[in-house]
Amino acid sequence: MGLWAAVHAERRGIDTILADAGQLGGGASGGLLGALMPHMPDRWSEKKQFQFDALVSLEAEIARLEAETGLSAGYRRSGRLIPLPKPHLSKIARGHCEDAERHWCAGERRFQWHVLDSPPVNGWIEPSAGESGFVHDTLAARVAPRSLTAALIAFLRQAEHVRIQEHAAVTGVDPDRGTAVIGGETIAFRHCVVSAGHQSFPLLQQLTPGLKRPLGQPVKGQAALLKADIDPALPTIFLDGLYVVAHEGGHVAIGSTSENRFDDPTSTDAQLDALITAAREIVPALRDAPVVERWAGLRPKAIDRDPMIGRHPDHPRLIALTGGFKVSFGLAHRLAEAAICIAGDTDCGFLPPESFAISSHIAAASR
Ligand SMILES: Cc1cc2nc3c(=O)[nH]c(=O)nc-3n(C[C@H](O)[C@H](O)[C@H](O)COP(=O)(O)OP(=O)(O)OC[C@H]3O[C@@H](n4cnc5c(N)ncnc54)[C@H](O)[C@@H]3O)c2cc1C
Repeated sequence: MGLWAAVHAERRGIDTILADAGQLGGGASGGLLGALMPHMPDRWSEKKQFQFDALVSLEAEIARLEAETGLSAGYRRSGRLIPLPKPHLSKIARGHCEDAERHWCAGERRFQWHVLDSPPVNGWIEPSAGESGFVHDTLAARVAPRSLTAALIAFLRQAEHVRIQEHAAVTGVDPDRGTAVIGGETIAFRHCVVSAGHQSFPLLQQLTPGLKRPLGQPVKGQAALLKADIDPALPTIFLDGLYVVAHEGGHVAIGSTSENRFDDPTSTDAQLDALITAAREIVPALRDAPVVERWAGLRPKAIDRDPMIGRHPDHPRLIALTGGFKVSFGLAHRLAEAAICIAGDTDCGFLPPESFAISSHIAAASR
């Protein structure tokens, strides 16, 4: 989120300090999965439209970034397969085909929600995984998280208006005086975009008296990377919280656990083994595939589950940009652009949904 914000600041010629407590891209965004999953096409809402527009626009944003840096972000609109183990699920899924026809369109582009009796490709998911068929959607995509962050960082390292400070934690923000302590040094700012992942919540909370509940929390997730001889264009498989994502270079990512309680944020354990076993059961090509990496990180989940963005109601110089929880990669470029437009008092041509506003989250935490 913060990297995209700095990219948009650079494009608008805004002098910016990008401060990270650790290494750039070393937080939750430095993981393995990178699934870009649309919401269901039924019960259409402002929120679903915003996410749809973001997922569609990401393709061009990434192409631009790749052209500017000469680096690949590992992006591909490879679609998604959802096995339907029960007949009633098939009936519900068939109802969504028309919803997708109506809502999943952008100009001339159309994306589909097909319901099929058997998988659309051979040699990937076991046909028995979908006893009542499969959904195949053509909107979902994937990106390689570390390749994307590397491309964003490469862009920023050659930026004219962005100064990078790594291993420089922000330890104090005085939004009314417009000062922050970064790596022990006090600097002055006109606007401060708080984009510190789950660590944004305590930072924002300190500046928001009267809350009855926390503004958000970290949710741990574990994932694994396997090496297999597979076609990188294969669709992402999604079944009951299990994701199997085919990446470039013979890599397949498997995720993710969702843990509200944990002792060690970075360790992996038997919960990840269970996910790998479940993936191997439905994808024969992974049965003997070696695990090349196990990884865990903390997702930022805001109190209302939605992303948290916008001007702090009591501190207008402070702009929140966090809370992407499980869908940050598909939204970050748009939310970051909105945050920079808010800082510059300019119109981006789009607005994040009301439920994303930090003021909505503060209201929820005050009840
Ligand atoms: C296992 C797992 C699988 C996931 N899969 C997907 C997926 O498939 N698709 C998807 O869209 N999302 C997925 N997510 C969620 C996604 O990774 C996160 O929502 C996203 O990375 C959050 O980005 P962020 O920029 O808000 O936070 P982060 O990437 O965590 O970045 C926050 C940065 O702030 C820095 N920081 C913290 N405190 C301070 C401070 N005081 N001063 C300065 N810097 C500070 C940190 O060092 C860090 O670099 C997954 C998450 C996990 C854990």
